[in-house]
Amino acid sequence: MTGGARARVVTGCLLVATAGLAPAAPAPGDPVPHYDIAATVRPADGVIEATVEIRFPRRPAGTEHRLLLGRSYAITSLTGVGAEVAASEVDAPIPKMRLITVRPTGTAEASIRVTYAGPLFSLATPAINAVSASLVELSVDSFWLPYSADLGAPFTATALIQGLPAGATMVANVPHRREGAALRLDAAQPTADLAFIAAPGLTESGQGRFRILAPEPGSPVATYYREHGAASVDFLERMLGPMPGGSATVTVVRRANGSGYARPGYVVVTEVPGAAPTAGQAKFIAHEFSHLWFTRASPTSEDYWLVETPAEYLGLRYVEAALGSAALESLLGPKRAIAAKAPPLLGRGRASDGALYAKGPLLLFDLEATIGRAGVDAVLRELAQAPRHDTALFLTILRRVGGEAAAREFEAKLR
Ligand SMILES: [Zn+2]
Repeated sequence: MTGGARARVVTGCLLVATAGLAPAAPAPGDPVPHYDIAATVRPADGVIEATVEIRFPRRPAGTEHRLLLGRSYAITSLTGVGAEVAASEVDAPIPKMRLITVRPTGTAEASIRVTYAGPLFSLATPAINAVSASLVELSVDSFWLPYSADLGAPFTATALIQGLPAGATMVANVPHRREGAALRLDAAQPTADLAFIAAPGLTESGQGRFRILAPEPGSPVATYYREHGAASVDFLERMLGPMPGGSATVTVVRRANGSGYARPGYVVVTEVPGAAPTAGQAKFIAHEFSHLWFTRASPTSEDYWLVETPAEYLGLRYVEAALGSAALESLLGPKRAIAAKAPPLLGRGRASDGALYAKGPLLLFDLEATIGRAGVDAVLRELAQAPRHDTALFLTILRRVGGEAAAREFEAKLR
């Protein structure tokens, strides 16, 4: 591994594909596609083989389903029942994808069956996922499943994953269990990703609803994440209410790409052996756990600021509470420089990283001066209870908590 952990720990999502992956779209009770997955990984040569059957709920005639699969996987069979299917290569909205289009031929339920195999796909170099003897780590980053082209669209799934390293500890973002040497995933509730890790030598520790798995539980980074993971969950629950999903797992992995990511209740972080932890990593873990409450805005619209900005603000607030105001200031200083040049949060679709992670959180600190810290906390606590987040809802709550003038002033700063 090269580079310091500090530079490589990202607070959010490097790739479009990793953004805000919580089930965002359906109204409660809306049917979602169901995936039945049989996959085998080949750690010796970094290959994934899979057969996936997808049943689509009834839709009005003419409704097309579009799925994206990493282009490194060669499709050897693609068939449809009650649907015409086709595959092509596309480079938008994500580069190097295979696009599978499914056109139902009637109004009955349509299904497809696709078989494919190939080396692990990645948009990043080095990859954020892995298929190796020491670590198998899959998520949407490797587009190992045909994901909806509406990134973040939810689905249910059952999966059996074979070929995992002998003696591997297994952890996933959905209910799962070991079946012999295989991993069974059972996502009966809609999810926007199937993410899992299987690695030999991961040791579990932690307490209550928080647990951590690490190659070396006593390493400085694992110790730091254990301490700040548990403490940040407590901090966030005190402010926002009970943690959605009821549990949070952090897995520490060692791979060349130092980027972490989060799904609801499931956080992946990386460590460089021997590296010392930093305040930025305490913020990172609190930021990622904040996404348990804040991932309910559309990842492709201007409302996406309600995913990253509250998470980053709460990460910073946790640093202040746990490590003090000097540690907070060490993180805010660079943000002021970025925010000064950042474009607005609203009005141009999904905002830039500078707006989301620097300007937005600083605006929330500014808002404390107007309506008080207790006022900002009340707004976030009420927002955290809502099933879906958009700017209009945020401003409605702000108006009620802080008054018309404060809401108008804040909205002007967002634009
Ligand atoms: Zn984030």
